[in-house]
Amino acid sequence: MNLENPNLIKACMFDMDGTITDKGMHYPSQEMADALTNLAQKMPIAICTGRQLESFESHGLNYLLKEIQPKKLERFLENLYLVAENGSIGYNFNTDLDRFQEFYRGQWPEEIIERNNFMKQLDEEVSEFGEVVYEAHRVVVVVRTFHGEDNDIDKIYNRSAEIESIVKSFLSEHWSNFEEFFHIGNAGIGVVVCPADSDKDRGIKEFGDILTKSRGYEFSKNYREILVIGDNPQIRGNDHYFLAGKYGIPFSVGDHVLNASPVKEKNGNRLLHSAGTLALIREILQ
Ligand SMILES: [Mg+2]
Repeated sequence: MNLENPNLIKACMFDMDGTITDKGMHYPSQEMADALTNLAQKMPIAICTGRQLESFESHGLNYLLKEIQPKKLERFLENLYLVAENGSIGYNFNTDLDRFQEFYRGQWPEEIIERNNFMKQLDEEVSEFGEVVYEAHRVVVVVRTFHGEDNDIDKIYNRSAEIESIVKSFLSEHWSNFEEFFHIGNAGIGVVVCPADSDKDRGIKEFGDILTKSRGYEFSKNYREILVIGDNPQIRGNDHYFLAGKYGIPFSVGDHVLNASPVKEKNGNRLLHSAGTLALIREILQ
């Protein structure tokens, strides 16, 4: 068992790419869709991703909805939350309106640099390895990594690492203390710059707070009843703050572990990506 006491878990939060999907895959497996559906019959779940709402809907949710048994659908949607844009915006699913509605939104620090101006400057800097995504995100700035003709996932991850260091140099050239205003998150398929106070750790807190406010859930001070799973906990990984241990019980299903716990099989081997996530979900469902 990886979880000391699965009965204490009241809600779960998952990174999307590389955590509920496997590295380089755009959609969750049937097995993962079933596991998430069954988990959401029991407790609230949140997907916490660098993607914006529309990208989550087209890449994750629409696929999941096709796979869910009709009798489990209503409960699944009632218990589904989305923390998008790397922790900068939270949504709950309104089953009456049949759509997501926003419950919090962070703010880009316009007084430091105008967001549009920042996007233009950054786009030039990263042009060899990727491009800034205009008009899709509401708060964060995202650089999408070029996929190349061969779509080789390791090459894509390498380009993403190049972008990460370019963004870091760019920000530190302008502001030696840039981490007071901005966080850089490398998701492997893209790099996100988010307001420092609206990273994925804020997402955990806001998720806990909305469950308390709207549904009467009780949590300890640091939300230790929320299980948190991601795959990029390294410094400047986009789960670094998600899995830093400030809030929730963090597990890493990526190569790095840092402040999170690894997920292991009985024989001690590590379980990575969706295999690790499935193992933890099964421990809760047992
Ligand atoms: Mg990820």
